[in-house]
Amino acid sequence: MKKIIIFLGAPGSGKGTQAETIVKKYDYLHISTGEMLRAFAKNEYIKEDEKKALEAMKEGHLVPDWLIFRLAFKEIEKAFNENRGMVLDGAIRTLAQAEGYQEFFKKNGMADEIIVIEIMIDDEEAFKRLTRRKICKNCQQVYPNLEVKIIPEKCTKCGGELGMRLDDDERIAHNRITEQGSALINPLHKFYKEHEQLYLVDGKKHMEEVEKEIDHILLNT
Ligand code: AMP
Repeated sequence: MKKIIIFLGAPGSGKGTQAETIVKKYDYLHISTGEMLRAFAKNEYIKEDEKKALEAMKEGHLVPDWLIFRLAFKEIEKAFNENRGMVLDGAIRTLAQAEGYQEFFKKNGMADEIIVIEIMIDDEEAFKRLTRRKICKNCQQVYPNLEVKIIPEKCTKCGGELGMRLDDDERIAHNRITEQGSALINPLHKFYKEHEQLYLVDGKKHMEEVEKEIDHILLNT
């Protein structure tokens, strides 16, 4: 199994959920830049330029590439040092980022360890999912509101209260899908196809079905 699993997909495509499954099954390190940025924003020692860079996030826009590299490369190095595999969840969202990561992995002798899995959903479905899901306000566990599943009253993991993620608000979710949906995925799709690292999964299938397909890809590459 490859050591570096990169998930591509619109917000709400299920990248985080599928990443968690891999982390549990194979003890890979979960590198979610969204989670990292939210945690980083709470840090009281944050520098002025970083604070300014984080502003974009509140409105559903992308934060600058330099901040992503600064946060993500540190985590990736941790995985290298521990000799663990890793799942990059939403960590690559611009062509400059794709190139930057590719270069970084090459420099670390890991270029052959990359596999990219795109979880495909259309923008309309992505918007529906973002504005209908809930998260635990305490442990951030996500509760997707898929037709087959009913969201529980309280978090089943920690008993915390469930609510909406601030950037899942309709207006901001709209910004996110417009900027980070198919318009963002298409050039990345092309980039990784050219690098022969890309595998596709239909994200509209049931979560368990998507998980099976991903496992099949991971265990056969
Ligand atoms: P997520 O939790 O993955 O939906 O990410 C939440 C927000 O964090 C996004 O709407 C962006 O503002 C920001 N973000 C996360 N990852 C990246 C990235 N790789 N590049 C730029 N911005 C990002």
